[in-house]
Amino acid sequence: MRLLAHQVLRRVALWSTLAVVGATGLGYAYAWQYSHDRALEQLRRHAELQGLQEEQAFRDAIAHLEVFRAEFLRRYQDRAVDYGARFDAMYQVGEDGAVRLDRSYFRGHRHDDGRYAIHTTGFLGRRAAPPDEDLRRRAVITTDLVAELGPAWREPFANLHASLPDNGLVIHWPGVPWGLQAAPDLDVTEGEVIAGTRPDKNPSREAVWSGLYFDKTARQWTVTVQLPVDHDGRHLVNPSHDILLDDILARLGRSRLVGAQTLLLGPGGHLIAGPDTLSEGDEERGILHVNDLDDPFPARVHRLANEHFQQGHSAHVMQDEESGAYVVFTRVRGPDWRLATIYPSEQVAGAAHRGAAMMLALGLALQLILLVVVGTVLGRRVSEPVRRLRDAADRFARGEPIEATVTNLPLDEENEIGSLSRSFHELARQVEQRQVELEGTVEDRTRELATANRRLEQLTRTDSLTALPNRRAFDDDLAQLLAHPEPLSGLALGMLDVDYFKPYNDTLGHEAGDQALRKVADVLAGQVRRDVRCYRYGGEEFALVFTAIAVPHAERILRRILEDIVGAAIEHPASPLGVVTVSAGLAKSYDPDVDAASLVRAADRQLYAAKASGRNRVASD
Ligand code: GH3
Ligand code: MG
Ligand code: MG
Repeated sequence: MRLLAHQVLRRVALWSTLAVVGATGLGYAYAWQYSHDRALEQLRRHAELQGLQEEQAFRDAIAHLEVFRAEFLRRYQDRAVDYGARFDAMYQVGEDGAVRLDRSYFRGHRHDDGRYAIHTTGFLGRRAAPPDEDLRRRAVITTDLVAELGPAWREPFANLHASLPDNGLVIHWPGVPWGLQAAPDLDVTEGEVIAGTRPDKNPSREAVWSGLYFDKTARQWTVTVQLPVDHDGRHLVNPSHDILLDDILARLGRSRLVGAQTLLLGPGGHLIAGPDTLSEGDEERGILHVNDLDDPFPARVHRLANEHFQQGHSAHVMQDEESGAYVVFTRVRGPDWRLATIYPSEQVAGAAHRGAAMMLALGLALQLILLVVVGTVLGRRVSEPVRRLRDAADRFARGEPIEATVTNLPLDEENEIGSLSRSFHELARQVEQRQVELEGTVEDRTRELATANRRLEQLTRTDSLTALPNRRAFDDDLAQLLAHPEPLSGLALGMLDVDYFKPYNDTLGHEAGDQALRKVADVLAGQVRRDVRCYRYGGEEFALVFTAIAVPHAERILRRILEDIVGAAIEHPASPLGVVTVSAGLAKSYDPDVDAASLVRAADRQLYAAKASGRNRVASD
């Protein structure tokens, strides 16, 4: 038999699976859109923040240099201070002809007034004449300022230095004794970097950023920002910060978005730093152009960058149509680099997949819990009560008494099963009651039938005219007596016949004849007792059966009957005696082997004899 609980569970499982899968499908679409939007928003914000961070670094650089300029000009114009003597104490001409700041300024130098200088080196390139008063003044002020401000402005810059247009440079750079290492014949003004500060190359006298270059002395890829300081049309000094490419990259790397890649391009499309696969040797940095790469992707990014910066978007997310990757640009001010943050589209889809898988897993787990709960509830609240109801019905059908079958019925349940159980209980009770009533009725009917049968039996054995037992009763009783297993102690049969009855009928009519027969029968019935039985044998003939102790008295009884009939004085005009008389023949010689017919014949013979000898008498054998 299939269980209701299983059927329901199967349905619930089917529909809830459809619901979960449907919800997951919708959830997937939603999660995809959500994670897509979220990823792009995250990317955009990240780029915005990164932009702000880098911008801050470069803005700080300019601010520092402006502070330097102001302080330099203040000290430079203070003619009260004589820097000549201090210069001689600080700078010495080396064996190689270069003038260098005393080594102690690098290791740690305490001034007479208590000030402390460290990590500072200074270099004045080989020259024909010794430094003049002005150069000395500038060199000392520059040295003081570099040594004073350098330690405060270390982060995020590699160093603070200041170059003098007349081939000099003072630098604060922990760990790098630049001024001590500089080649004696080095002309710092020769390189592109410092040349960019010359009035002819930089008429606006604004801060200037170098391109990316390899600082041979420090052995570092560097970008330098310099601010030319002039006074009275004279170019005095260039305070500068070096920013190391490694530091920029490390900073960008630190704040890199998970799953994203970065690509740093120069303004003309030169690759500065790219994903690991594109990171060529140091010597290629800033030189390798995106168009020269095998991979077309950086070139596309460069094109997108140009579009982006032309449109003046700030942190606008663009999409590379070929790879589907999302790209957002940040301008690294100063060197005017373009930092591209690239977010692969799989990253977005991956998040959506994870969301959908999560939803599916969650949905299936919920479904499992639901099925377990539904299964348990169905089992307890439906299957079990239904089983009890069925058991009760089975037991009732087997005929067990109602009180035994209802003990297990869920009669108290407040639901359809409870109501069904109560109906079943009522039905069973009524069926049982009807059965009891039916049994009573059947008993009554059976009794009535028995009575009717008995009555019928009596009727079939009774003569309707005289109410005496009839010929059938005579035959049955006689056969029964004769068939008795033990021989009878005695048996006598008397046959009686009304005399001249035909003339009676003929003279008085049949109705009167019937009347006369009834009167004769009444006389005979008066003689009936335990051992004397009387029958209407047929017509106007009667039979008397004597048994047991009546046998010896049979003849006497017959005579009295004859007398009583005469005494009854039933008028018979056609009879010589004037009244109805009866003749009787008695067969009393009983033989255990005799049969009914011969007994009747024997009695008939005697009756014939009684007739023949005058009637109204008894003849006996
Ligand atoms: P016997 O003295 O030799 O017996 O002469 P009987 O006339 O009586 O004899 P029989 O046998 O010739 O006549 C019998 C008559 O009994 C004939 C019949 O009409 C009459 N009878 C038989 N049964 C009935 C009955 O039920 N009612 C009436 N009214 N008459 C009957
Ligand atoms: Mg007769
Ligand atoms: Mg007769």
